[in-house]
Amino acid sequence: MSADVFNDEALPRLDLAAKHSKARPSTVLRLKPPERFTEVGIPVRMDDGSWQVFTGYRCRYNTVRGPAKGGIRFHPDVSQSEVRALAFWMTFKCATVGLPFGGGKGGVIVNPRQLSDRELEAVSRGYMRGMADVLGPDIDVPAPDVYTNARIMAWMSDEFDIIQRGRYPGVITGKPVSRGGSLGRDDATARGGFVCLRQIEDKRAWKPKDITVAIQGFGNAGQHFARLANEVGYKIVAVSDSRDGIYDEKGLDVAKTISTKNDTGRLPKVGKAITNDELLELDVNVLVPAALENAVTKENAKNLKAQVLIELANGPLTKEADEILAKSKTLVVPDILANAGGVTVSYFEWTQNISGYYWKLETVHERLGEIMSDNFNQVYDLMESESVSMRTACYAHALNRLADSIESAD
Ligand code: NAD
Repeated sequence: MSADVFNDEALPRLDLAAKHSKARPSTVLRLKPPERFTEVGIPVRMDDGSWQVFTGYRCRYNTVRGPAKGGIRFHPDVSQSEVRALAFWMTFKCATVGLPFGGGKGGVIVNPRQLSDRELEAVSRGYMRGMADVLGPDIDVPAPDVYTNARIMAWMSDEFDIIQRGRYPGVITGKPVSRGGSLGRDDATARGGFVCLRQIEDKRAWKPKDITVAIQGFGNAGQHFARLANEVGYKIVAVSDSRDGIYDEKGLDVAKTISTKNDTGRLPKVGKAITNDELLELDVNVLVPAALENAVTKENAKNLKAQVLIELANGPLTKEADEILAKSKTLVVPDILANAGGVTVSYFEWTQNISGYYWKLETVHERLGEIMSDNFNQVYDLMESESVSMRTACYAHALNRLADSIESAD
């Protein structure tokens, strides 16, 4: 990621999308700066008695379509430009799938692995104390992101309730189910990507048993995607994590691969051992990057053989790799659509919190399926009518929605 990812990568996307959208120039101009950017100092007494002050950010990028929505990242590399860029991407992700949310993002410059549980709780509650004025169920609704989880969301939600002297579960999503979290959040991201796969299957008249899939990254997103695809017959031939990669052209035993990985922390020693680069370059029908940013670069992009790439990870292609693939025949389902199942179920969590009425798992699955398939098809049609990549179509589709909202009050 470049040092100024907001100016180098986020804003050029907006200008490109504008060429294929009906948005007025004044609308595009209004979408260039964030609505608000907040910085707080978070003083924490460490376990050894000393004090440290951590820096926290929150960017409320845009709220024209609804309260801002986006995670809070705890990472030593968090920067203002990165938080702005991630908030911009959330604005477009929520608009892509038509959620009544704008976009936001937050972060704390910290390495949570160097903190004790008590220090981590103090950072989390301190972040919420600093930001309580700019967050709220009808203003800006955070969620987990890199190195934050349901427990951290529970601390923050509790702190907000203490400050406000009430119960406001809709202030934050990704909470434990016992504190107002939604059923179905655990596999929501993978399920959204899986719905995209099913739409492609329809369009290409694929028979799942003939279709091979390789998945890079075998955590939450990768494992659930493997399970869902395999359940309907797709052949998962390769998976990898940060240490190992395995390949079996006849198809892996997905249930066993998942249980071995979760029980032992390592992938089973089956099939042929492969490197991550070899996995990306396999001759498969579908490639699913589900690990880190920038996995596909200008060096390996030209060697990719998959016909379809489903970006479950955020930003798995560098800018140069994206340009190479946009000119090839590979269909790249972009992250802001492919992994939008996660924020969609976060929206369901917020809806359930503010209505006080909780849904069955089947309801979550059914409504997620409908939102993902409708929007996948709208983006696909725009891609064909504008003769652009699916990514550009996605941004244009989202920009059209943002323009409708902004221009209706012009
Ligand atoms: P996770 O931490 O559960 O899993 C990440 C996996 O990637 C692990 O198996 C890890 O071993 C593997 N990995 C790390 N470095 C690797 C490398 N160099 N090569 C191959 N594998 C490597 O994370 P997750 O929740 O599954 O998220 C994965 C991606 O999906 C991230 O980009 C995340 O931003 C994106 N995403 C996740 C969600 C969600 O709801 N979980 C939502 C939207 C986007």
